[in-house]
Amino acid sequence: MAKQSRDDPMIEPIPNSSLSMLFEEASEHMSWLEQLDITEHDYLYIEPFIQKGYADWKQEVSELPEIGGARWFVANHQGAILEADMPILPLVAETLTASVQTLQCAVRSFEQHSCIAVPVFTRTKGQLFTIFGCVLGEGLDATVSTLLVKTNAHYFRACFYKRVEAWFVLDLLTIQKQAKREEHRRSILFQAVQKLHGKIDVDSILSEVFERIAGMYPDAKVELLMSQDHLSRDPRVKSLLLHGEQEHVCVRAFMEGRMLRKELEGAEGEPFLEIGVPLIGKQGVYGVFHLLLPQDQVEEVDLQLISMLADTAGTAFENAKLYEQSNLLISELRLINELTKRLNQSLRPKEVFKFATEELLSIFKAEYCCISQIAKENEHFEVMSSNVPSLSQKEFFPKDYGFSGLVYSTQEPIILSDYKAYGKFASKLMEDTDSRSLIAAPLIVRGEVNGVIMLSHREERFFSYENYKLLQVLASHIGLAIANASLHAEVRRMANRDMLTGLYARHYLDDTIQEFQKKDNNGSLIIVDIDQFKGVNDTYGHQTGDQILKQVCSVITGTIRKTDIAARWGGEELALYLPGASIEHGHQIAEMIRLRVEQETEPRVTVSCGIAEWNRDDEKISVESLFYQADMALYKAKNNGRNQTQIG
Ligand code: GH3
Ligand code: MG
Ligand code: MG
Repeated sequence: MAKQSRDDPMIEPIPNSSLSMLFEEASEHMSWLEQLDITEHDYLYIEPFIQKGYADWKQEVSELPEIGGARWFVANHQGAILEADMPILPLVAETLTASVQTLQCAVRSFEQHSCIAVPVFTRTKGQLFTIFGCVLGEGLDATVSTLLVKTNAHYFRACFYKRVEAWFVLDLLTIQKQAKREEHRRSILFQAVQKLHGKIDVDSILSEVFERIAGMYPDAKVELLMSQDHLSRDPRVKSLLLHGEQEHVCVRAFMEGRMLRKELEGAEGEPFLEIGVPLIGKQGVYGVFHLLLPQDQVEEVDLQLISMLADTAGTAFENAKLYEQSNLLISELRLINELTKRLNQSLRPKEVFKFATEELLSIFKAEYCCISQIAKENEHFEVMSSNVPSLSQKEFFPKDYGFSGLVYSTQEPIILSDYKAYGKFASKLMEDTDSRSLIAAPLIVRGEVNGVIMLSHREERFFSYENYKLLQVLASHIGLAIANASLHAEVRRMANRDMLTGLYARHYLDDTIQEFQKKDNNGSLIIVDIDQFKGVNDTYGHQTGDQILKQVCSVITGTIRKTDIAARWGGEELALYLPGASIEHGHQIAEMIRLRVEQETEPRVTVSCGIAEWNRDDEKISVESLFYQADMALYKAKNNGRNQTQIG
């Protein structure tokens, strides 16, 4: 046989040794379970098992031949009946008491009946834990039946232990199942911690938490209520409304900084658990996870798990937020650096304004920009630069007009998410461009608010809070660049001016005439010299001499056009250049000046004028020759008796 089996590959004989191992293993298990027993401490709890064992025994013996007319009972270790087929007769009570007292099988008879009570002992220590027995039918011999009753008692005990073992195994399995669930929870938490700490992006941290919770509790409704302005594309992220909702689980969880729960009823009366778990970091509470779970799906450990998950999420969220903020700061610094570098490339205020407008439009992806400044003299806003045509043509607005007026008076920046819904006052910028979103910041030049920067977009809610804050920062840098440029312009202006008379300096006139000679076809130069000025000084003193010089200068500036250039040529000699003017025209101007000086100066002085003209056709065009000719003409005027104009 053995040989045959070995030849047939399909039938592998099981070696003897492994068979015995299997057997040993099985018997080991059996003995382990069989050694399990109840003790006196369990007596309080075993009655249901006695009753169940008794019922099982009844079920099983129903197949066997009956012991004629026997009515069975089972009692606890003190002889109190637990189950019985008949009313409790005094005979039964007496027999039970005898059995409890003697710890032996007791038999008592009365009239035609006999009662047999068999004490049943625990299987390992042999302690009485129940009494099993019956009342025999009429005419049955108790001595013959005792053995049968004892056998049944044994059978009953086996049924009882089967119940106990089954319960024990079930209990073990439940514990094991719970341990498995616990392990599952731990692994979820571990994975979540690993994943969350591996992320540096705020949104993906939040979605990770949502997914974890949804994975654990598919029937849960989860949302995150954020306390701050946290923009998220995730529809599950909402704002936490703190006002008027003081009793809401989430508001309280936020205030108290701990997990809170509330029992609720669903639409059909099914119990729900509403949970608020704060999203906490070291620096504060950021929001609250709001969960709605069917109550039967949540155990205490689940709540702990959710709380731990929220803790981890809080730390990860805070880290990511800090990372985000530092990135934002770095990019802001870069931006400021770039912007100031570019703004400072030009030292002309007009160009700086124009440049700032272009830069701001591109930085904020805004559609429209308007930078206005308070005009020095008239106390009105003057639009310095704008990409809105209706504003860019040198518009003026009253100081209290629109959003510029608001920013100017409050000296605070503003952010407006929807102009249409706002409707407090009219704004030309918003109206003309059909804009709905606006951010505006004061323009601070040399420590004073002297203008306003406004950016707008036709979409509502276009600008973020970060945009609004950034504009404020950039505005101060733009202010600085403008201050630089205007200071520079001022210095330039002063360098080109003569201090006493306020006219241009000689070098400026020289340079300007040179420039005109490059592009114009002609122009005239007038040299004005005060007559006998030495004598004036001698008579009235130098200070009065200065005053007269100033009077002559203001006659000159009051006579010429804005495009003409008046300069102090030297001492009390003044020069005027009239771009594109013919010598005839120059003569008229010179005469006008001469006559006005004669009439308007006090003490009265007169002047002599020499005029020269240059022309594109001239053989030699230069500033020097133009001056030379004019000077010659002046010389002529002096020689001719003064207080007159001569042409060179
Ligand atoms: P004329 O031109 O008619 O020939 O006589 P003049 O006395 O004006 O002679 P000249 O032009 O040669 O003299 C210029 C005088 O003007 C010399 C100087 O005392 C005076 N002067 C020049 N610059 C100033 C100035 O800034 N202030 C004052 N008070 N006097 C000046
Ligand atoms: Mg003179
Ligand atoms: Mg002179």
